[in-house]
Amino acid sequence: MTTNEIKSSKGADCIFCKIVSKEIPSSIVYEDDKFFAFLDNNPVVKGHSLLIPKEHYVWMHEAPDELIAETFITAKKIINLMIKGVGCDYVQIEIIGKDVPHFHVHLMPRYLNDNLPQLKNIQYENDEEIKTFASKIKNTPM
Ligand code: ZN
Repeated sequence: MTTNEIKSSKGADCIFCKIVSKEIPSSIVYEDDKFFAFLDNNPVVKGHSLLIPKEHYVWMHEAPDELIAETFITAKKIINLMIKGVGCDYVQIEIIGKDVPHFHVHLMPRYLNDNLPQLKNIQYENDEEIKTFASKIKNTPM
């Protein structure tokens, strides 16, 4: 994606906004009135999810401070769901920013002994495994 494409992108053309409105289906792991989280289509680990504010902001620095604070409080909730539901030891957080122009936080379940020197794309065994991972996170009691 070029800089001009990022700058000109509007909420209406945004893939993540379409995922929030459910125009594009996703494997939902969390939803409340302000935030939405779903399994990443290009995972680097199983359970790799993206947390986004429902409101469209291209960059984190454009979002109001309160929303940024709430984003990380929500990330903490989902991390706890992942630890309980998926059984990971911790969750790696990344904000990269340029791949899809809608502010999002990567949440990647990790294991202390996973010995991943570098995160590379992985694939789920099948659609059933995708559903299982989404459900393990989504349906874990808080
Ligand atoms: Zn958007």
